[in-house]
Amino acid sequence: MNSLQRQASSTMFNSRFGVRAAGGILSHRDAHLVPDQFVKQLAEHAAGNGVQLTPSVELIGFETSGRRVTRVHTTRGHISGEEVVLAGGSWT
Ligand SMILES: Cc1cc2nc3c(=O)[nH]c(=O)nc-3n(C[C@H](O)[C@H](O)[C@H](O)COP(=O)(O)OP(=O)(O)OC[C@H]3O[C@@H](n4cnc5c(N)ncnc54)[C@H](O)[C@@H]3O)c2cc1C
Repeated sequence: MNSLQRQASSTMFNSRFGVRAAGGILSHRDAHLVPDQFVKQLAEHAAGNGVQLTPSVELIGFETSGRRVTRVHTTRGHISGEEVVLAGGSWT
């Protein structure tokens, strides 16, 4: 009996999660993380590698040329760039 089977057969599932379960699947390739810590460390890593971060700035408009966005308007001025990535969440 491996450790997962021992956990499944113990009362751990019942007492900790309120779930009655006869077993489970352990995937060594899966993982989990703490989202706010991940984003904070990702931002620190990006900033340490030359990315300029401007927090608390709202995107309020675009300028386009044909099908391309050439400039974005923000609450702290305009930003031009070769490429613009829209990442404002699920509604973008
Ligand atoms: C309740 C809930 C639980 C979830 N649980 C999980 C989970 O356990 N595991 C998992 O993998 N995924 C989970 N998700 C999904 C996950 O949160 C999203 O898939 C992920 O956050 C999408 O990332 P994103 O960068 O595309 O968008 P977001 O994380 O939504 O980021 C978009 C950012 O753009 C900003 N923004 C929007 N408009 C503007 C603007 N005009 N100017 C400036 N900034 C703007 C927003 O403020 C936001 O910070 C969950 C989602 C919800 C709602």
